[in-house]
Amino acid sequence: MVQRVAILGSTGSIGTQTLKIVEQFRDKFSVCALATGNNISLLEEQARIFKPEVVSVNNEKQANVLKRNLADLPIKVLAGADGLKELSAWPGADVVVVAVVGFSGVIPTLTAIRSGKKVALANKETLVAAGELIMAEARRHNTVIMPIDSEHAAIFQCLHAANRGGELKQVILTASGGPFIGKNRDELANVTAKQALRHPNWLMGPRITIDSATMMNKGFEVIEAYHLFDLNKTQIQAVVHPESIVHSMVEFVDGSIVAQLGLPDMLLPIQYALSYPDRWPNPFPRFDWGKSHMLHFLPIVPGEFPCLDMAFQALQVGGTLPAVLNGADEIAVRHFLEDRISFLKIPALLAEVMSRHKVKQHPSLEEIVDADRWSREETETLINH
Ligand code: NDP
Ligand code: MG
Repeated sequence: MVQRVAILGSTGSIGTQTLKIVEQFRDKFSVCALATGNNISLLEEQARIFKPEVVSVNNEKQANVLKRNLADLPIKVLAGADGLKELSAWPGADVVVVAVVGFSGVIPTLTAIRSGKKVALANKETLVAAGELIMAEARRHNTVIMPIDSEHAAIFQCLHAANRGGELKQVILTASGGPFIGKNRDELANVTAKQALRHPNWLMGPRITIDSATMMNKGFEVIEAYHLFDLNKTQIQAVVHPESIVHSMVEFVDGSIVAQLGLPDMLLPIQYALSYPDRWPNPFPRFDWGKSHMLHFLPIVPGEFPCLDMAFQALQVGGTLPAVLNGADEIAVRHFLEDRISFLKIPALLAEVMSRHKVKQHPSLEEIVDADRWSREETETLINH
């Protein structure tokens, strides 16, 4: 059966790699919808190759330019949050790949679930901000959410391989540690955005790359894992593994550990999210068993990574607090990328915004959207004063 795919965020790191998978398995996929933010020239290129029925861009002005440029093709052009929402419910789509960055993933994911689509989810912010709501809705609609995040793809595979969820002791998320592993506070005080963007193992979009340098990314992944795998809050641990070969592990009650390994290459988890329950052979680079390899695992000491500690705290408290942590982080990272605040200011801002928030438990979508907005405004205010 040919799967009809909608890709939200098709011009980004995950989006372009998803299109590589589609190209590699031309007989298994067709692309029916593509959505992006601002990169309309790349979107036009993609539209000419993959011939979707519909595309969506950030605003009306860009949509008008694109309409003119694509006038020779029968492609509908939409814009803004409404366009993104319409694409998530596109009748021609079987699977929606959510690869936009940030809070903007929440409503499209919810819409795709409510429209009965299979969801391949890269956008972890959706589960950080609205995990309880999203997972409840997925259960109600019997929706399969396939994780694209490599750690969660690994845990999914380990759990399926072992097939005995009830005997699970804990999941262990591996973290490369990012570009600054081993640096002390003094050394971190003056690191620049340019240095933080040089990740040793992964080439990703700017937000997640900075989040990897602060370890906020691992913190978000802890919350993501909690929701995806219906864990209890004490069942998630993180460990530094600089080589990024073991993508994560699950440990059972008897002490046995199952791990998933592979090269650090997002093509693999993207492919598996789309091929599950099958596996398809591919020509991608492979782990070389003809060479010797060293794999290292380093414990994480509490206090070592403040952003990771804050994510555990947000998970513990729950309610709107994780959405607030994500909203504040989106703003803080943007200011750091524009060289307006220092690297160490990021955790300081997050801690301050979290401490000012009045948490609401079991929030509705509106309350989550409000908490996100409040958190962004609060962070902007703290930066500007
Ligand atoms: P990028 O910054 O590379 O790409 C983001 C994509 O989203 C772009 O296509 C961008 O469009 C689009 N976009 C941004 N805002 C909007 C919006 N409001 N409406 C529509 N489209 C929008 O990010 P990544 O691909 O690195 O990450 C995407 C998601 O996947 C993130 O949530 C990240 O945490 C997660 N993830 C990424 C991994 C990776 O290896 N990259 C690994 C694991 C998870 P444009 O560029 O045209 O403006
Ligand atoms: Mg990850």
